[in-house]
Amino acid sequence: MVTAANLGIPRIGAKRELKKALEDYWKGDIDAAALERTGAELRAQNWALQRDAGISRIPSNDFSFYDQMLDMTQLLGAVPARFAGLSGLDAYFGMARGTDSVAAMEMTKWFDTNYHFLVPELTDDLHFTLSSNTPLDRFLEAKEQGIQTRPILIGPVTWLSLAKVKTEGLNPFSLLPRILPVYRELLGRLAEAGADWVQIDEPVLVRDLSPGAAEALREAYGVLSHSGPKLLLATYFGALGDNLDLAAELPVHGLHVDLVRAPAQLDAVLEAVGDKTLSLGLIDGRNIWRSDLSTALRLAQKAVAALGPDRVEIAPSCSLLHSPVDLDHEIALDDELKSWLAFACQKLDEIVALARAAESGREAAAEAFDAADAAIASRAASTRIHDNVVKSRAAAIGEADLRRRSAYPERIATQQALLGLPLFPTTTIGSYPQTQEIRKARAAHRRGDLDDAAYRAFLENQTRDCIRRQEEAGLDVLVHGEFERNDMVEYFGEKLSGFAFTKNGWVQSYGSRCVKPPVIYGDVSRPAPMTVDWAQFAASQTSRPMKGMLTGPVTILQWSFVRDDQPRSETAKQIALAIRDEVADLESAGLPVIQIDEAALREGLPLRRAEWQDYLDWAVAAFRLASSVAGDETQIHTHMCYSDFNDIMPSIAAMDADVISIETSRSDMELLEVFRDFDYPNQIGPGVWDIHSPRVPDEAEMTRLLRAAAKLIPAERIWVNPDCGLKTRGWREVETSLRHLVSAAARLRQDEKRDSLQPA
Ligand code: GLN
Ligand code: ZN
Repeated sequence: MVTAANLGIPRIGAKRELKKALEDYWKGDIDAAALERTGAELRAQNWALQRDAGISRIPSNDFSFYDQMLDMTQLLGAVPARFAGLSGLDAYFGMARGTDSVAAMEMTKWFDTNYHFLVPELTDDLHFTLSSNTPLDRFLEAKEQGIQTRPILIGPVTWLSLAKVKTEGLNPFSLLPRILPVYRELLGRLAEAGADWVQIDEPVLVRDLSPGAAEALREAYGVLSHSGPKLLLATYFGALGDNLDLAAELPVHGLHVDLVRAPAQLDAVLEAVGDKTLSLGLIDGRNIWRSDLSTALRLAQKAVAALGPDRVEIAPSCSLLHSPVDLDHEIALDDELKSWLAFACQKLDEIVALARAAESGREAAAEAFDAADAAIASRAASTRIHDNVVKSRAAAIGEADLRRRSAYPERIATQQALLGLPLFPTTTIGSYPQTQEIRKARAAHRRGDLDDAAYRAFLENQTRDCIRRQEEAGLDVLVHGEFERNDMVEYFGEKLSGFAFTKNGWVQSYGSRCVKPPVIYGDVSRPAPMTVDWAQFAASQTSRPMKGMLTGPVTILQWSFVRDDQPRSETAKQIALAIRDEVADLESAGLPVIQIDEAALREGLPLRRAEWQDYLDWAVAAFRLASSVAGDETQIHTHMCYSDFNDIMPSIAAMDADVISIETSRSDMELLEVFRDFDYPNQIGPGVWDIHSPRVPDEAEMTRLLRAAAKLIPAERIWVNPDCGLKTRGWREVETSLRHLVSAAARLRQDEKRDSLQPA
């Protein structure tokens, strides 16, 4: 029989119950037993939900109090030495969040999702021992409720591949022989408890494998497939590609493949899969659209024809962790829009319908298929989605629209004549402290307790005050402070057509943190200017140059749920056109400098290197489309947070921003090394103040960083600024740090003067 399977369910709860329990626990408002109770309730609900939906392969151990990678780290006994004094939940949350005396483990994005995991730390003195019984306990917990589950474990090669090596020269895979006995012991215990299948996640198989990874996989599964339960090897977030033969040859009993991201791999997979069970990832675990069940069914039927029904499972492409929980709880969206969507709960129904139809034909799930077909047809034809004006404008874009009028050297001369900035000009990245007072006023305005006029007046005061403080600090190019913005993407999404916002579409980002990404459902356009009146108001408050602040098309795209009915590049182009209009309006309003943030440009890189250039080409084109409308006299800035540009420097240069500000202070300017070999032609502001920490850097430290930068970049191209926006900082630190920053810039100017007076 074709099996309906799931690979993981959101654990935060439909009403974010886990978030609340965790935060109460951290505050000391509830004890560990109460936290455990919430966890158990959520698990019980989720298991029952999946059973009632008709899922036969229900996962366990997909629940976590913080992160599944961290769970694995603790289970393996790979707790970094600095947490040795802690045990149980204290150790667990200590690793996740740090304590007063010990720094947390590093966090980074899970493949190309916005979910963050805690990065394991590898040292050569690690002793791996089975240090937690959680997967077994959870399996038994479900069993007691009458539910047979398939426990999920992160595979050893993925765990090692994502870890950070802390002992110099240590090859992560050299630790594999020490880890495998722990997995073996655990698998043995699970088998004893009655687990017939265990899912092992090895998503590294969709990336370019690091040296030694293939051998490690062979070694690992040579051992683990004889440890008790049958193993389903799960791969997701892309095609297996050149790793297909390797995956197929591993002696596991089942293979899961992502057919949403990579439907074209099915034929090759069927060819290679041998006598394994094949789990077809046909329902999108990463996005919110209702599935095109009829198209999915054709793929499922092909697999059933090739392998027989007993060896086929129907599943989501990846864990449903990355989807919001339940569309039925959604109150902000209209019925038409809702009819196009499916959140995790609805995806379970889709899986079951598809499995039934794959087994016995479409009629076996006719109602679900009819509804899906109708939704797909209504979406395809909807005038809310399709805007011919936008489409023809996008189609008419030519090379000339992607080019500034003159080349950088001419532009910068024109700009400098107007701006008259000193050497080492100073500026900030945009936001200023979002104080309690501001958050309160915003909430009151949303509730309707503060009317528009009063809120506006409040924001004007904040903006005025912020500008005055920047003048007092002595900054050269000012910003308005972004007080009117809750979030750099949401603010723009709310003003653009083609975007919708959910009330409850929360997705876990890390720990108790959830995000509610905007939904881009239709062609994007800008009904009216979005930032001009605030920018104009700010500019009128000072005689110094004011910088207009925009979020770039790639970042807006990257941090939203995007359309699946057109390529990402097309959506990026439409957003770019909207931003382009805003740039033109800001320029007409007299803003001499405009910054277009592309915080997420680098993180949008595809998992496979072979696909990088294509992405970079359209991403850079989108930025250029947005910015190139500016005349020579308008200075275009951009900002990027994560600034490891080693591999993508030509594309960063191709964006052709007049000025780019980047995050460099934490790396002690090491990230600037790339500028030694690549002659970045335009101006650059390497961050000299780590704004992630409340520490106030002194003038000497910033001067030292700037002098290091000046060794690699000519003085006339260096700007002086913090690493990123200041919204999470307090005013006291900000004022002091900014004064230090301005004096550091002055000191560098003196260095230059002295050097130029010195005879050559
Ligand atoms: N302009 C934004 C700010 O200052 C940029 C934030 C970001 O790069 N993430 O807050
Ligand atoms: Zn930033």
